[in-house]
Amino acid sequence: MNNLQIPLSQISFIEKKYLPKLKQLGVETVRDFLHFFPHRYDDFSRLTKIANLEQNETATVEGKIAEIKNIHTWKKRMAITEALIEDESGSVRVVWFNQPYIIQNIKKETLVRMSGKVNWDKKGIFLSNPAYEHALRAPTNTGRLVPVYSETRGVTSRWLRWKASQLLKKYLDQIPEVIPNAILKRQKLIGAKEAVRELHFPSNLEKVKEAQKRMAFEEMFLIQLASVRARKDWEMSQATKIDFDEKLVKDFVKSLPFKLTDAQRKSTFQILKDIEKPHPMNRLLEGDVGSGKTVVAAIAALETMMAGYQTAIMAPTEVLAIQHFETFKKIFKNFSQKVGILTASQCRTVWKKNTKKNFLGKIRRGEIKILIGTHALIQESVEFKNLALVVIDEQHRFGVEQRAKLQKATANLKDNLKNSVPHLLSMTATPIPRTLALAFFGNLDLSILDELPKGRKKIITEIVTPANREKVYEFIRAEIKKGRQAFFIFPLIEESEKISGKAATEEHERLSNDIFPHLKIGLLHGRMKPKDKEDVMQKFKDKAFDILVSTSVIEVGVDVPNSTIMVIEGSERFGLAQLHQFRGRVGRSEHQSYCFLFTDSASANTNKRLKALIESEDGFKLAEKDLEIRGPGQFIGKRQSGLADSAMRHLSDVKLIQQARIEAQSLFEFDPKLKQFPFLKNTLEKIDKNIHLE
Ligand code: ADP
Ligand code: MG
Repeated sequence: MNNLQIPLSQISFIEKKYLPKLKQLGVETVRDFLHFFPHRYDDFSRLTKIANLEQNETATVEGKIAEIKNIHTWKKRMAITEALIEDESGSVRVVWFNQPYIIQNIKKETLVRMSGKVNWDKKGIFLSNPAYEHALRAPTNTGRLVPVYSETRGVTSRWLRWKASQLLKKYLDQIPEVIPNAILKRQKLIGAKEAVRELHFPSNLEKVKEAQKRMAFEEMFLIQLASVRARKDWEMSQATKIDFDEKLVKDFVKSLPFKLTDAQRKSTFQILKDIEKPHPMNRLLEGDVGSGKTVVAAIAALETMMAGYQTAIMAPTEVLAIQHFETFKKIFKNFSQKVGILTASQCRTVWKKNTKKNFLGKIRRGEIKILIGTHALIQESVEFKNLALVVIDEQHRFGVEQRAKLQKATANLKDNLKNSVPHLLSMTATPIPRTLALAFFGNLDLSILDELPKGRKKIITEIVTPANREKVYEFIRAEIKKGRQAFFIFPLIEESEKISGKAATEEHERLSNDIFPHLKIGLLHGRMKPKDKEDVMQKFKDKAFDILVSTSVIEVGVDVPNSTIMVIEGSERFGLAQLHQFRGRVGRSEHQSYCFLFTDSASANTNKRLKALIESEDGFKLAEKDLEIRGPGQFIGKRQSGLADSAMRHLSDVKLIQQARIEAQSLFEFDPKLKQFPFLKNTLEKIDKNIHLE
């Protein structure tokens, strides 16, 4: 075992009481500690003579304590410690607030070094709350570039610095170098040991920058290496060839009620070409809301079905799974017995309910050729006969673990497909900015639907302040009178479905009683039974409701062309990409559609963000903007990316990511088994366990 993996509980100089607090910071082993880097640095490196101190500067002085005492001010209920420090040039007051114990640490007559801000009051200048240490000690907390860590209750930067110095003394030499030498040279990066040391005990700011760059590169490089390797592995595995059946596809396309867009044709062709190969496809189909991804997936599923194999289509929500089921039922009228749906609460083909046992049998025997569902598809009890194609819709809504699990589950196939991996088609409406695509999906092939079906009208988007609400309500009443319908979306206030469900319920009451007493209003939220959700959706489609109030569960998928108004409450809480998705729910008919962004926030930043939505209808542009304004962490969730926060921070650095990818690729070209880099191989295995890149 590498010594750096030693748990901190076994380190004698880390007091036990700190362990739980460190754990909260994600620090459990020596390595974690050494990789827990400061988030900023205070420059205390300049030593100033006391006589030269100036108001407002941050300074370090060295001198003798001439006096020190605690003063209690009863009025403000504050403990003040006041001292006088002197050097050969003069003396100055020092004041600490609410740290009465300091008097135990610094006795009169001791030589100390202090760093802090020079403040000013009636009595003249004073050093305010300075960091201090005995002058004879090597500079740790004062007199240098001082690292500041993100602290948690009870773990101070001061303590972290002290322990980091002890750990570094003991373990610095054991920090492994994971970047091959040639790459370090080419990329002009400093070594691992030096970088870690500089980050905790910086010589100067330039060194800190170099160290940060090196650590960022390391993280990206390992991620890219894992991704390049995953791609190679994927390309090496076997898949079922699905022959391209031109007549079948042509006839099917002719039977559709619309003409495919050029982008749909092109993507379909790319996919059908991929699945013809004996190696598994791994393709991401990106296309704005309403760009028509479903039918593209359906064509691939049709070919697969006619070749005698099975397709699994996984959607993130039950509502969406049901909608797909409806769509497939319709377009595959003649084969509808072969299309099934499986969710946590239901399993059936067409309208025929099945017992679960019976249904699972149909999947196992291959009678169901196209199985649509939610996470329920990856339960262990689900066993396919010959699954050859997997489609993951709205893949950005799934965590990395779930995506990996679906793939793994599908790899355990029975029968003649024992050694093959199904072709994988992921679909997303989140246009992923180029940098992120490279960082996360570098191992995927990309098809893009950059064209909406013809005849879609521009959606009028407006920001609505509280003062204008009534006007908008009035407008909605008029539109509904003309026969249109409206969505009202509420933000998921808490992660908890329970609370947001309640908020939506209350809002539903408010709208029904106070705002639109004469209209029929439906309610949809995540805590409802699937059957009830489906009923509500169906009723809304059938125009039994004028308005549908919903939490963000309907973010994905639902298709109700007659609904032309989208109202988003608390719109400032959503990301641009998500708002754009909501907006895509309307604008699907010949009537003019509207999107109203309700907000109570008057902040300039909110306004800037929401304005971007008015100005642009291009999902890709909005995504870039989101990335710019909110940063990658907000854009692509941690859970979804599987990345550590530290790595997320570097995602906006295109050049770094590109360089890391180029190096990772060339390393594999040169040594595909990583024989010359056994250490790298081990590290990679660890990463594979933590991050499952497709
Ligand atoms: P998304 O890409 O958001 O998943 P869908 O596949 O749900 O989009 O398609 C949105 C709507 O557009 C559906 O009602 C679908 O039938 C329709 N549609 C798809 N392709 C076309 C097309 N080429 N022309 C007209 N309508 C289309
Ligand atoms: Mg869709």
